[in-house]
Amino acid sequence: MALSGLDIQKLLPKTNCKECGSNTCLAFAMKLAGKKANLSECPYASDEAKGILGAASEPPVKSIGFGPEKKIKIGEETVLYRHEKTFVNQGLFAVDIGDDEAEAKIDETLAKIRDYVVVRVGKSLTVDMVSVTQRGSDPARFAALAKKAWETAKRPLVLRSKDSSALVLAAEAVKGSGSILVAATESNADALRAAAEANGHSLALSGTVDEVCALSSRLKAAGFNELVLQFATQSLAEQYQVNSLARRMAIKENYKPLGYPFLRYFESGNLLEDSAAAMVEICKYGGILVLPGFDAAQLVTLMALRLNIFTDPQKPIQVEPKLYPIGEPTAASPVFVTTNFSLTYFIVSGEIENAGTSAWLVIPECEGMSVLTAWAAGKFTGAGIAKAVKESGLDATSESKTLVIPGYVAQISGEVEENLPGWKVLVGPQDAGDIESFVKARLAG
Ligand code: SF4
Repeated sequence: MALSGLDIQKLLPKTNCKECGSNTCLAFAMKLAGKKANLSECPYASDEAKGILGAASEPPVKSIGFGPEKKIKIGEETVLYRHEKTFVNQGLFAVDIGDDEAEAKIDETLAKIRDYVVVRVGKSLTVDMVSVTQRGSDPARFAALAKKAWETAKRPLVLRSKDSSALVLAAEAVKGSGSILVAATESNADALRAAAEANGHSLALSGTVDEVCALSSRLKAAGFNELVLQFATQSLAEQYQVNSLARRMAIKENYKPLGYPFLRYFESGNLLEDSAAAMVEICKYGGILVLPGFDAAQLVTLMALRLNIFTDPQKPIQVEPKLYPIGEPTAASPVFVTTNFSLTYFIVSGEIENAGTSAWLVIPECEGMSVLTAWAAGKFTGAGIAKAVKESGLDATSESKTLVIPGYVAQISGEVEENLPGWKVLVGPQDAGDIESFVKARLAG
């Protein structure tokens, strides 16, 4: 029986210390009752509370870990929509290789997977997993390829074969890598479950919604719960519908047979169709997304979307408020100022660099808000900017004494000047893309 918030509160320390992010233990208990928090967020929960609340406070979507220490996680979601709280663990991208491919091509793809990194808003984005598919008929070749992929790319694997004995062999070859076997159906579930359990892997269950529910219930009852669901669907519309309904059942109805992350392959043969389907999957609850090959343009697009969806809406991505040198600035260099919202910082600093100039960039504390939002909230004021410039030390060292403020807050230029005697305040462009022409027109020479 589900526990109410009041029942749960009786089991909490009742110190209202706020370390869980809630103002009171009761507020936290209400969140637990609504599956909008995890008991692990309270560092003082007693063993008794953990025992009683364990199942009640379990997230409706089970956490499944990958890698040798199972630190790469999917699942653990508690809401249907990101704005209700936040999504917890982003979907993982895997790039597929097949045992029917030429050795040189496989080596090239594995090296690309291993080395690919794109930096966006200060985060390094990489390929999370390697998918290895058996298309030939030699289990030993498949297992050897799995081992090679693991040793080369050092990523957990998505091992796929229609031949259970080949999957078992590959599972043994990469024991301890924390990979996933794809896929169990009613006929091979017991053999694959044994191989997954013995070698530290998870297991994907494949079929219709009904088939998958029957299998997950059976395996869980048998004591194996490291499961991911692969639904058989025929169209993009059905993919959207099935994923949405399954996740709704898990979160709103606490329906355990569907309370697992999802896995899906994108292999229509058409790059745009695959990309569109992968985008739907990112937005609608994808756990593992297997792409048919290494395509940097596709990857960066999907990763950017994933970053947007999985950013905690309650915690804007921020950079540390401080003084940043752009290029090799000297005392004579101009000084720019903007807010500590990551996207703003990276765009502005990039455009100053593109302008081919060196400058100082002062970032005041603006709680991660963009320029106009911070200004409207009273977090980006003339006095605040002046304080940040003084704290940076530039008030004493700068010889240029030239400060460029964003064009969107032209109205505070007088206030900045009043608070920074001796400085010339220039109103910069509204659009960071115009920084280069601004620098040439107003700061050159
Ligand atoms: S961290 Fe624990 S003790 Fe502190 S307020 Fe939250 S629930 Fe109460």
